[in-house]
Parts: sequence; C-alpha cells; structure tokens
Amino acid sequence: MLFRDSVYEFADRDIRPLVRQMDEEATMPRGLIDRLFELGVMGIEIPEEFDGSGATFFHSVLAVEALSRVDPSVGVLVDVHNTLVINAMMRWGSQSQHRAHLPRLAQHAVAAYALSEAGSGSDAFALSTRAEPRGTDYVLNGRKLWITNAHEADVFIVFATVNPAAGYRGITAFLVERGTAGFTIGKKEDKLGIRASSTCELIFEDCTVARDSVLGEVGKGYKVAIETLNEGRIGIGAQMIGIAQGALDHAVRYTKERKQFGSTIASFQGVQFQLARAATEVEAARLMVYNAARLRDARQPFLQEAAMCKLFASEVAERVTSLAVNLFGGNGFVKEYPVEKLFRDAKIGQIYEGTSNLQLQTIAKQLLS
Ligand SMILES: Cc1cc2nc3c(=O)[nH]c(=O)nc-3n(C[C@H](O)[C@H](O)[C@H](O)COP(=O)(O)OP(=O)(O)OC[C@H]3O[C@@H](n4cnc5c(N)ncnc54)[C@H](O)[C@@H]3O)c2cc1C
Repeated sequence: MLFRDSVYEFADRDIRPLVRQMDEEATMPRGLIDRLFELGVMGIEIPEEFDGSGATFFHSVLAVEALSRVDPSVGVLVDVHNTLVINAMMRWGSQSQHRAHLPRLAQHAVAAYALSEAGSGSDAFALSTRAEPRGTDYVLNGRKLWITNAHEADVFIVFATVNPAAGYRGITAFLVERGTAGFTIGKKEDKLGIRASSTCELIFEDCTVARDSVLGEVGKGYKVAIETLNEGRIGIGAQMIGIAQGALDHAVRYTKERKQFGSTIASFQGVQFQLARAATEVEAARLMVYNAARLRDARQPFLQEAAMCKLFASEVAERVTSLAVNLFGGNGFVKEYPVEKLFRDAKIGQIYEGTSNLQLQTIAKQLLS
C-alpha cells in the first residue's frame, strides 16, 4: 500500500489545488499529464525494457483509486491509458508494435480506446465504422462517440468492421495515430461530472492506415474488446472507491469542525452512524475491487467478480457522495466546497464500461449458467 499512499500524496499535493479550476474549465493541463508520466503511473504494467514500471494490474487499480480520491477525471485518464489501451497492446500487440508503441506510451503519449458509436453503446458489437481493405492498407470511415482522453491522446485503439455481414466476427482493432489524414477529433462533450476528462467524437473520412496497424487478428477485435473491458471495469470500480473515500474524508473532516446546537455535528450519534455505515460500504467495495484485481493478476476467473465490484462500487460512490453533500448542509450544494463535484463525478460509474444493467446481465448469466 506504500505505492497507493505515495500516489495519493502526489495527488493531494499537486492535483488538489487544480481540481476546481479543471472542473470549471473542463480541461486538464498538459503539465499535469507530464507529471503523471514522470510519476510512472502511465506505464504501470509496461515492462522495464520498454521504459515502463514493470508492475502489476493491481498497481494500476491502486493508482486509479488514489488519484480518484482527489480527482476522478485524472483517475479515468490513467485508467483508460493503462487498463484498456496498454492492457490490449501488451496482450494483442506484435513484437514490432510493442517496440514502436510501449516506450512512448510509458513516457509521453496518451492513449484512448474507441469502441462506442451513436448507434452502438451497450450493444457495442453493432458498430458500423467500416474498415475496407485497399491494397496494403485499410480505409476507415465512420464516427465514434464518447471517447475518453480523445483531446489529449496521440494513439487510439479504434474498433471497426471489415465485413458488416459477418456481425461481430468482422470487428477488428486498429491502432490509429492522431494527425492521420482523414481522422479528426469532433465535438467535445459538456458533461455533468468528470468534466476535466475529455470526451469527444472521432470522425473517420477515408482515413487510410497500414495493414500493420491491425492490433491482434483481423476479425478478432471483439475478443480484444471483451477481454480488455472485462478487466477495465475493475479499474472503474477503483475509480469509484476513490471517489467514495474522497467524499468520506471530506465528510469526516467537516463534521468534526461544524458546530450546531453547541457541539460539533460529528458528536451526534445520528451523524456518527451515517459515517460508520458509509465507511463500512467503502471498505466492502474496496475489498471487492482488490479481490477482482488479484484474481486477474493470478490468472484466475474474475468475470463475475469484476462485474460485481463495478456495480457495487458505483452504487456506494453515489450513496457516499450524496451523504457527504447532506452532511455539508447548504455548503454541500455549492461549488466553493468539494463534495458537490464528487457527487456529480460519481454518476458516470453506473454508465461507462458497461451500464449497471449490463453488469447485472453478466452476473446473472454466470449465476444461471
Ligand atoms: C463520460 C463518458 C466517457 C466514455 N468513454 C468511452 C470511451 O473512452 N470509449 C468508448 O468506447 N466508450 C465510452 N463511453 C461510452 C459508454 O461506454 C456508453 O455510453 C455506455 O456503454 C452506454 O451506452 P449508451 O450510452 O449507448 O446507452 P444505451 O446502450 O442506449 O443504454 C441506455 C439504457 O438502456 C439500458 N439497456 C441497454 N440495453 C439493455 C439490456 N439489454 N438490458 C437492460 N437494459 C439495457 C442501459 O442499461 C441504459 O440504462 C463513454 C461514455 C461517457 C458518458
């Protein structure tokens, strides 16, 4: 836990002073992203021979939790970069792709993961972005929606179909560089929460990429997506326990200071019990997230545990941030105090990387199989 504590210390010292402005301006300064690279949290699982930290998935989860306790937008930037893109790259990339991309992903290049489209969210494999073979290249046409890190990213994993008639068996993952002709970043969403995390549309108009930009095998993109998202949602669980812990920290501090009826509000048993229940829920969610991450690192089955931890941690984050707003009273409702932001940030946990209904579907399928 030394690692988690040192990432938290960094976040507390270097990120906390920026949080409100980043939320208001819906931006993340490049200087902060550079510090994340220096800290070593942008290449956690990348082997040292490729300039990474050579650590485990569990370390990624700890980093995302520690950062999200201060700012969940920074947490998700690190999460998508590590648990989706680097994860997919390490497992499915060729040796030459590893040599070309892993050192830059560990050192300076931010990454994004583009699966969703306007017509395909929960039903992700109904995507319609096309990749047509042409000579030694593929030509991409279509639009992606909701892509985290799009504003900052240099490298994108883009899922497109080489054969719409083949259904999910046509889906193929491509590595696409920012600045490739025919590839533009579209509208940036104006969001309820995690506002400093960029979420943009991607537009492909006759965007030509070489055949060696295919990640994994042609027609196996669905496997790349399923496997990375199964693991990535543990990272979202970590983001959610970070948010919940952050809100609880604020609530504990505030209730020990604020006085009503002649004593601190923390001295009232009604308040104490609410805090105690919240702390218990955060600990339960944390153990579920850590358990899923450890199972993944131990190469044990973890599908159900991953779905459960994301489902539960996102509900806990919603409840605990809501309680924190209540305990701050009127101050909980204004931007001058930190908890209204965490309340807004928590909501996304029930939506991305599979909505709560989709997690329930996965759990039910395992239960009834
Ligand atoms: C801030 C943000 C960041 C994102 N980042 C990324 C990213 O980096 N990359 C990426 O590819 N995508 C990203 N997404 C997209 C995200 O994964 C999708 O929004 C999510 O999967 C839901 O898809 P949808 O929005 O189309 O909702 P829909 O699929 O239309 O769902 C709407 C509602 O219907 C319910 N529903 C749908 N199907 C079923 C069913 N079979 N049974 C029961 N209920 C069902 C859902 O649970 C939900 O409540 C992001 C989204 C947001 C908001």
